[in-house]
Amino acid sequence: MRKFTANRIHPISSPALEKHVLITGDDGTILAIEPAENHDPATVKKLNGDLVPGFVNAHCHLELSHMKGKVPTGTGLIPFITNVVTKRNASPEAISEAIENAEQEMLDGGIVALGDISNTVDTFSVKSKGRMRYYTFLELFDFLQEEGAEKTFSDGMAVYDKIQLAKGSTCSLVPHAPYSVSKNLFKKIREFNPPKDITISIHNQETPPEESLFLNKTGDFLNFYSKFGITLDKFASTGKNAIYYALENLNPETRNLFVHNTLTSREDIEAAQSWSNMVYWASCPNANLYIENRLPNYQHFMETNARVALGTDSLTSNWQLSILEEMKTIARFQSYVPFETLLRWATLNGAEALGFDDTLGSFDVGKKPGLVLIQGLDGNGVLEASATAERVLIDN
Ligand SMILES: [Zn+2]
Repeated sequence: MRKFTANRIHPISSPALEKHVLITGDDGTILAIEPAENHDPATVKKLNGDLVPGFVNAHCHLELSHMKGKVPTGTGLIPFITNVVTKRNASPEAISEAIENAEQEMLDGGIVALGDISNTVDTFSVKSKGRMRYYTFLELFDFLQEEGAEKTFSDGMAVYDKIQLAKGSTCSLVPHAPYSVSKNLFKKIREFNPPKDITISIHNQETPPEESLFLNKTGDFLNFYSKFGITLDKFASTGKNAIYYALENLNPETRNLFVHNTLTSREDIEAAQSWSNMVYWASCPNANLYIENRLPNYQHFMETNARVALGTDSLTSNWQLSILEEMKTIARFQSYVPFETLLRWATLNGAEALGFDDTLGSFDVGKKPGLVLIQGLDGNGVLEASATAERVLIDN
């Protein structure tokens, strides 16, 4: 048995507590939270700061870790994607080493689970070690080419079949984004996945040209595709924002995790949440600043009771893989979002979005969520720029 106390303990599923002791088993399973006065201080490890459950990183591309610092910032999504496609190659050794280092960085920073996009097998051996819980989203795209769906699907299956799942980890087949997945491919993905109890992730409403493509078939995606020799002859605009195309083609019976949502309006959020009661919104604010130099309007999400989770995106589009740094960015630019709300986004909401809330996301009895110590809240309970987060080892 282990006992911890801190300035505040944040169970997440209930309000923060002062002068309490968090009791865990030797393996970190939560046994109880009790008033500190019931415990001999000599038996309790005293931590200086805020004790919170392990972070859940709802969106990353671990396999792009080797491209850290290789793609310029602030260019917008389309030049960014072009850079990723053209600069992605590296030696297998460099790719593996970067993946291992990225995983270690996340573990050190208190991340206990990851929703990770895979286009290749590159991360599978690291994931098979089970050092954190992984939800692998094996991602497909056919650049809206209905007739290409079959080949895209069978190529994707060859990768999917190589996934090695550690205990507690899982996977699904997912569409990349509305602007890159044909109706045919959406259908193949939908028919392949189990009809419920899974999570589907999709990039959503990240850049203005994505909206203009769907609203009236104009904008930079047409040039982008033609540069790669792809015509959109068979694609018809819908006259609506991009997310509606996704809603028409996704399954409302599964959890659906919309990623980025920088342009998502209040009406879009409401439409998605009336379409399904299992909609989650992954926000990656540092990547949004890195790529597009803009952020979602979090007011829309708070006013609609949207379940927001936090992600780091990849080291190709971020300076680090730290959920705390994502929280700080929101606190800095949209300071009306309270710390307690950010914490929930960083923990329980991500765990629910990935279906990992059976063991992660809160200090509820029986869970094994990991312990993280945040230091650096100011007197008003606001995250300071210098705040730190570190994993608390159960056995030290
Ligand atoms: Zn992404």
